[in-house]
Amino acid sequence: WQDGQGFLLLWFWQHCHHICSSFKNYEKITPVFSYQRSYRFVADQETARAVTKDDNKILLRFCLMDLSGEQDDKFPPELKVLVNGIELDTKGGPFPMDITALCKITCDALNLIQVSSIGLGNYYVISVSLVKKLTVSNLIEKLKTKKPLTMQDTQTLIKKQLRGETLSEDTTATIIQCSLMCPLSMTRIVVPCRATSCHHIQVFDAIVYFRVNELKSNWICPVCNSPALFPSLVIDG
Ligand SMILES: [Zn+2]
Repeated sequence: WQDGQGFLLLWFWQHCHHICSSFKNYEKITPVFSYQRSYRFVADQETARAVTKDDNKILLRFCLMDLSGEQDDKFPPELKVLVNGIELDTKGGPFPMDITALCKITCDALNLIQVSSIGLGNYYVISVSLVKKLTVSNLIEKLKTKKPLTMQDTQTLIKKQLRGETLSEDTTATIIQCSLMCPLSMTRIVVPCRATSCHHIQVFDAIVYFRVNELKSNWICPVCNSPALFPSLVIDG
């Protein structure tokens, strides 16, 4: 795996680099009956400098060792993990864990991560990396750099829908409704957007959608409940 690849991207956490500089970036957790292992790392100068800023964090993540595609976070069974002797709360996981406050950041201090699990035949990967916390405004800016949907794109989608309805319901008088109210906030949409993977013309407010996902990351379209990940979102003016 290359630096920054392997794990599913976190849209609110921009990957900067991996920290375990004295070790391989990824360590496999082998499938044995019970597993106990320690990982040591020293924060390099770049990390030491970066974490003095509030929006930079050190994240600890686990996922399955699976090269078939980007992996969502996944904890090994019965995971217990300690960073410099302090046990992390893994209840409600899997999720990326912010371990910044538990790390010794000076270049001469050794950090110790102790992991234990009961192995059940799967390989897991552990990663410690430096990330930059992005804000809702950062994501809106990124969204605005993408090519927005044109009037023609929307017209094509409407025609497609009308054809579909005509065939299935045998009627030509069909009304396609699109509300200017965001289905999430029930207020007027400020930044209209939708996922290119969705088949509806109803849009939602990107600002509200990002706020919701900043609190709890699930990236599900509020209109049709299909996955609507950041890369598939476009502004639909
Ligand atoms: Zn949808």
